[in-house]
Order: sequence, then C-alpha cells, then structure tokens
Amino acid sequence: MTTLEQSRLLATEIPGPRSLELTKRKTTAVSRGIGTTMPVFAQRASGGIVEDVDGNRLIDLGSGIAVTTVGNSSPRVVSAVQDQVAEFTHTCFMVTPYDGYVSVCEQLNRLTPGSGEKRSALFNTGSEAVENAIKIARSYTKKSAIVAFDHGYHGRTNLTMALTAKSMPYKSGFGPFAPEIYRAPLSYPYRDGLIDKEWGTDGELAAKRAINVIDKQIGAGNLAAIIIEPIQGEGGFIVPAEGFLAALLEWCRQNDVVFIADEVQTGFARTGAMFACEHEGIEPDLIVTAKGIAGGLPLSAVTGRAEIMDAPHVGGLGGTYGGNPIACAAALAVMETIEADGLVERAGEIERLMKARLGRLQAEDERIGDVRGRGAMIAVELVKSGTDEPNPELAKELSTAAHAAGVIVLTCGTYGNILRFLPPLTISDELLEEGLDVLALLLADL
Ligand SMILES: *Cc1c(COP(=O)(O)O)cnc(C)c1O
Repeated sequence: MTTLEQSRLLATEIPGPRSLELTKRKTTAVSRGIGTTMPVFAQRASGGIVEDVDGNRLIDLGSGIAVTTVGNSSPRVVSAVQDQVAEFTHTCFMVTPYDGYVSVCEQLNRLTPGSGEKRSALFNTGSEAVENAIKIARSYTKKSAIVAFDHGYHGRTNLTMALTAKSMPYKSGFGPFAPEIYRAPLSYPYRDGLIDKEWGTDGELAAKRAINVIDKQIGAGNLAAIIIEPIQGEGGFIVPAEGFLAALLEWCRQNDVVFIADEVQTGFARTGAMFACEHEGIEPDLIVTAKGIAGGLPLSAVTGRAEIMDAPHVGGLGGTYGGNPIACAAALAVMETIEADGLVERAGEIERLMKARLGRLQAEDERIGDVRGRGAMIAVELVKSGTDEPNPELAKELSTAAHAAGVIVLTCGTYGNILRFLPPLTISDELLEEGLDVLALLLADL
C-alpha cells in the first residue's frame, strides 16, 4: 500500500476523461434514481484526500456523508478487516454467534450516554436501525404512534420515509407511507429567531410548542416514542436551542414515551463529543447509530436501557447480515482509534478552526445568514443578500465550483441552501484551511 500524498492536485479538468467515461457507463448501467453529488469516480482515499481515477487529488470535506470519521482506509480498520476476512466472512449471528458482535455491543453500551444497564442490537444501515428502534419502542410501550420533527431525516425505507420530513427527493412518488407517524415543530434557532428572539434562544419555550402539538394532536396515551436527531443532519445541521432536548426528554419520562436519539450522523466523535447528546447533558432511552461506526463497512446499532431493549420476544429482532463479523471488526478498530488518537478532541479543534474562518467570511458577506454546528459538523446557511430568504441557487453554484476546484463539499437543508462540512478527523489543518480558502475565493466571484 503506497501512501496517498496529502495535497490538493488538479491533474486534469474535473471531472477528467476517465470519470466522464465511467459516468457514461453509469448512465447506461445504474438506475437513474441513484444520483451522485459529483460525476467524479474515486480511486483511493485517506487522511483528508480522495484521489480520483484521473489522478486528481480532492480535499475531502464530506467523509462520504459523515462515515469515514477516522479517515478512509484507516490503518487499524484495514488490518482488523484483513484479519477477520481471512478467519471467516459470515456465519449469521442468529445461527452460530461470534465474539466480535458481542464486543461491539459491549463497547456501545460503555460509550453511549447513560450509566444504567444497557443492551445493543446490530443491523446494517441507519434506516434499518431506526426501524428496529421503533419496533423495540412499540414492543416496550404497547403503543403505536411515533413523533418525528420538522426537517428530520431518518432514511429511505418505507417506515423511515414516513419519519423523514422532506418530500423531494426522498419521498415524492414513493407512498403510501407507514401509518401512525406524526410531526412536531423543531427548535431552529436561526429561523425561529427571525420571528421572535425568545423563540430562537429559549429551548424550553420551543419544547412547549412541540409538546403542545404532541399532547393535543396525538396524546401521550397513544404515543410509543419520539425520534429526533440531536443535531439535524440532512435537515441543515440545525442545533436546537439549549434546553429543547432536555425538556422533551423530561416530558417523555413523565408520559411513558420512549425518547429515541437518532445519532446516525452525529455519533462517534463527529461533533466533538463521542455522541452529540452529551452536549445537552441528556441520556436518551434509545440511541441509533450507523455512519461513523465502522469506517465505511455497513453496520448500524440500537443501544439503550436494558428493560426497553429486552422487551421484544426472542427471535423478534435480527436479520441475515446484521452485525456482520467484518463490519464488527472494523467497528472495534474505529472505536479504538477514536480513543487512542484523541479524535473527540480533534473534532473540537476542527470546530474552532472552521468557525473562526467561516465567521470572518460571514462578517464580510451578507449572503451567509448563519454559521452553525458542532465539532467537525459545521454548516453555513446561504440567503439572498440582506434578507433571510433561502438561497439554494448559490449553494448549488458554490458547491459545483468547489468540486471543479478539487474540494468535495455537500449541500443539505429543507430549502437546499446549506453548505455542510463533514471533514474526516484525520484531515490536516493545512488541507482544511486550503479547502475553506478555495470556497472563500469562489464565493467572492459568484
Ligand atoms: C443517513 C442517516 C440515516 C439513514 O442511514 P442509512 O444508512 O442511509 O440508511 C438515518 N438517520 C440519520 C440522522 C442519517 O443521517
């Protein structure tokens, strides 16, 4: 394995000829429904760089959507996977179980917030884990209604489409959706604050608004669970006002409602804590994890209080591949790497660097309405100059220009006007600064 040089390089135009050729093949071979952020095909990746098939080296500010938090092909992950793949590739944990699965559950029970006795169950994708968290909550409470929030994203399977707020592209034309799913208003400090300053800063007030909807339109007696991302991902990196999550959790505890934190995007050091709930000082009943858990191998989990997790009958949960041994080996290597390499602290450093740079940019540019996020999960909300009107056109132009300049950035948000940054925690300060410099120059030109 040769090491990948940690510098941006434009060897050809981006996309280059080989990427264009592959894009042509993709169009004729792959379903149109599978879109891509950029028509650039990857060859190798590590640290803060993705090298494409034309030899271009791109600065990675996306981590494959918050997955390669410990870096691509991280050394411990590579070696753990190689060892495991040579031992056995699959037996099915439900047939002849293996140590790796149990070890991952033990680690999850130890690392997630909450000191009481816990259990975990492993699956393959974020959506699948969310579905299982709902199954577990319904089994425990013997109730059926579920509340999700405005701007929420929980996946693309039928139940998780119902939980997801945004129609295009996730839901449009794919219904009917699962019943007994309801939506409550979120705390969105930037936009709430434009209407009323108090709404923007007072999380308890925003929670009262949500609880009022839940109480009156659904009723606690029918409600099995509420599910919420502690920082919304696809919805726009929305950090709720302080006290919002704690007030919701408190209400759930009083009303026999399971509080599910969807930490699929925020988990595993991403936000400058092992889990984003820690910033709010809350201990959810169930925590759903995926993305950053295994360095890119497909794995997800539900972790939570033992009495809730043990509610389903024996054989009620599972799946052929859930907790695959290779993915488990990768996850153990990821968790070791986060702790041994101080990656929680590294995410905090990345936050300071990015917020300082983006804050300066905001001071000079009226089109940056908000800079927010935590750790290595930072976003800028783009608006039309001098207004608070979302500016999705600018987000699109800026991200497209960044891609051509060799910087991988993603957009998100209900209005498509948010540029989001999810660098791997192994990126160097130099690359991170260069990526932001490129964006600043491009923004000035648009
Ligand atoms: C990505 C994501 C999911 C869905 O995960 P998949 O692995 O794509 O099914 C669920 N919840 C959140 C918060 C996510 O970011």
